[in-house]
Amino acid sequence: MLTIDILTLFPGMFPGVLGDSILGRAQERGLVAFGVHDIRAWTTDKHHVTDDAPYGGGAGMVMKPEPVVAAIEAVRSHHGGTAGPVIFLSPQGRRFDHARAQRLASLPQFTLLCGRYEGVDERVFLGGWVDEELSVGDFVLTGGEIAAMAVCDAVVRLVPGVLGNQDSAPNDSFASGLLDHPHYTRPEEFRGLGVPEVLRGGHHAMIDEWRRREALRRTLARRPDLLDRAGLSDKDREILREIQGQEAQQQ
Ligand code: SAM
Repeated sequence: MLTIDILTLFPGMFPGVLGDSILGRAQERGLVAFGVHDIRAWTTDKHHVTDDAPYGGGAGMVMKPEPVVAAIEAVRSHHGGTAGPVIFLSPQGRRFDHARAQRLASLPQFTLLCGRYEGVDERVFLGGWVDEELSVGDFVLTGGEIAAMAVCDAVVRLVPGVLGNQDSAPNDSFASGLLDHPHYTRPEEFRGLGVPEVLRGGHHAMIDEWRRREALRRTLARRPDLLDRAGLSDKDREILREIQGQEAQQQ
């Protein structure tokens, strides 16, 4: 079972997202456990202060190091030998991606530390209490909570047994190295738009071939950078040359 511990100043943000749908069911089935911890619980002063003004002046507040480090140490010692990495959600971190999600899904435990305000006192990083920093994109969120939820969702769906249809995760974008192919459902015609003939024919080999071709077409059009690392077969490369040839003719 995977345990994800989350250290936050806003624990009330989590129950809805973690308790519903696939993440909620994964918990009920004992495949994953979440520990949402209020960093405030590790303050030792009367007013439970977790932030203070920055040295050097300027706008914003900074999360104090003492409660953050105490929270990290408590979670680490609770898990003992199975304690995994402590990850700080940060716009300055390495971009979170499918490969990182897969590695995290194979661990027994990891901890997500959510920043607020201007961030966390630098000594938390200098002292080695954080193992890595992950960003969910080149934009700035108000706090690390929504980023942590995104990481939880992306990781938990990769834990074996979590998704009902085990076939769906390997076909998703990035899992195969490509973007996913287009999807259609009923009705057969919607506002003058039909469904590709091949998908209605029931010929599974032809459907698989169409889906692979469309995944290649999409990846070439939208994320050609992925193709270099996608482990393409000779047949895939032939299809790509065909698609490029068709597109050149259309221009
Ligand atoms: N002053 C910080 C900077 O410019 O790097 C931004 C602080 S931000 C307002 C507050 C917290 O939100 C951060 O400490 C981090 O935990 C979280 N956060 C903001 N953007 C994020 C992103 N793109 N990915 C992950 N976490 C993010």
